[in-house]
Amino acid sequence: MKRLEGKIAVVTAAGQGIGRAVADLLHAKGAAVHASDLNSGLLSQFPGAGADALDVTDREAVARYFRRFEEVDILVHCAGFVHQGAIEECEEEDWQRTCDITLTGAYRVLRATIPHMKTRGGSIVAIGSVASSIKGFPKRAAYSAAKGGVIGLVKSVAADYLADGIRCNAVCPGTVDSPSLRARVDELAGKMGSREAAMEFFTSRQPSGRFGTPEEVAELCAFLASDQAKFVTGQAINIDGGITI
Ligand code: NAD
Repeated sequence: MKRLEGKIAVVTAAGQGIGRAVADLLHAKGAAVHASDLNSGLLSQFPGAGADALDVTDREAVARYFRRFEEVDILVHCAGFVHQGAIEECEEEDWQRTCDITLTGAYRVLRATIPHMKTRGGSIVAIGSVASSIKGFPKRAAYSAAKGGVIGLVKSVAADYLADGIRCNAVCPGTVDSPSLRARVDELAGKMGSREAAMEFFTSRQPSGRFGTPEEVAELCAFLASDQAKFVTGQAINIDGGITI
């Protein structure tokens, strides 16, 4: 029997990058996966139980989306947005947008999921980041604040719903080779004058000398989602190629 057979899983921001790797892996492990993304076109080939448009900044849409479920066993919440900049380079609109997608989005999605887990328990995994309360990085002011908030929210949810059999953990990646990472390299290359300099900015913080892959992050999420991890809750687990050693 596949490890996640019989489980109903919901994955947000599953169109590409880490979210897509998570959705594909949970599907391969036998879960009935409901994948969603702001851009549902990215999910047109997704073979799971559902592929829908969902913008985590839309409170009504999030509430409506979750009404379709009776039970949810697994939530992997992946939506997040990186604003590149120190605090002086971060306008209030950048701050609000980052927090709305990254932190308030997590609040909306976790809050909508929990009632569907209360009957038979469940596992929530939120994608955090080592750029957060865990470690300071240059040019990540709003992002780090929002992801630090995600870690706090995860720990609070874990404490509040332990008695309901609901586990809640954060997976905190280092630099992962995803489409948006490549876009950030390009954006920085424009500011720094060369792609080599921008790549050096990102790789210099990776002691392993390489980026992680979405598939590596997905493996950790799948473990936390599974019953094999049923003694693990309230943790922020780094997967970062040694950044935080
Ligand atoms: P990505 O940024 O390349 O793709 C993100 C996906 O999110 C896209 O498909 C996009 O359409 C979707 N999305 C954007 N806004 C949305 C919204 N409002 N509602 C729903 N979906 C939305 O993927 P990634 O780089 O793998 O990042 C996924 C998660 O991992 C994010 O939370 C990110 O902060 C986190 N993370 C990434 C890295 C990295 O280096 N790539 C490192 C640490 C943490």
